[in-house]
Amino acid sequence: CGIVGYIGNKEAYPILINGLKRLEYRGYDSAGVALLNGNINVYKRKGKVSDLEDYTKSQNTDGTIGIGHTRWATHGEPNDINAHPHRSMDGKFVLIHNGIIENYGKLKKSLEEAGYEFTSDTDTEVLANLIAYIYKEGDMSVEMAVRLALKKVIGAYGLVVFSTEEPDKLIAARKGSPLVIGVGKGEYFLASDATPIVEHTNSVIYLNDDDLAIIKKDQMVLKTIFDEKQEPVVEELDLDI
Ligand code: GLU
Repeated sequence: CGIVGYIGNKEAYPILINGLKRLEYRGYDSAGVALLNGNINVYKRKGKVSDLEDYTKSQNTDGTIGIGHTRWATHGEPNDINAHPHRSMDGKFVLIHNGIIENYGKLKKSLEEAGYEFTSDTDTEVLANLIAYIYKEGDMSVEMAVRLALKKVIGAYGLVVFSTEEPDKLIAARKGSPLVIGVGKGEYFLASDATPIVEHTNSVIYLNDDDLAIIKKDQMVLKTIFDEKQEPVVEELDLDI
């Protein structure tokens, strides 16, 4: 339902929580964040963003890279486990996702046959493990594993992935579900619409279907899931609206 992301030099957690609150108007049943701090810490809860905040009070929320999600359940009931972010079984990939992976049943079955176990009932966790599986099978970058996984997916997605294997980047992709990148100075913001971004920057890039963005704190590369280079179009938001 709602997506936020941050990569830069600031603490990500307050930016993510603030962003999720800006997206509350869309409606949701659960909320969660993942923060890179050596390992990737994932905190997620059924209920309001404020419930997530209460829960994380006693947790370590340090980190300058992170992603956050508000979920509107389509596959699997609203509960703590089905909330996003979802982590692959090997712990290497963490993902937030808006939309529906229509062929998740078939993909899940093949992954189970390959020894993958699932903790949630979501279509999203299937994608996390599919990326992990492809990454493990081949000798490739995280970006390539994400691209190859997305080529196998039927359905709609706006998603952000990050990995302990290449912990300096966020990878974002969209098909049928909107994603906006906010361009800052030495930092980037990500969101499913511009409302969480406007307080940080008015320079934005709207992703097109099949776009894939590889985002480091001081550099962004835009291509498609078919590995075609794209020229990013930076638009200036009119903040008077
Ligand atoms: N299909 C995913 C789920 O049920 C994502 C739902 C959403 O867009 O929030 O977990």
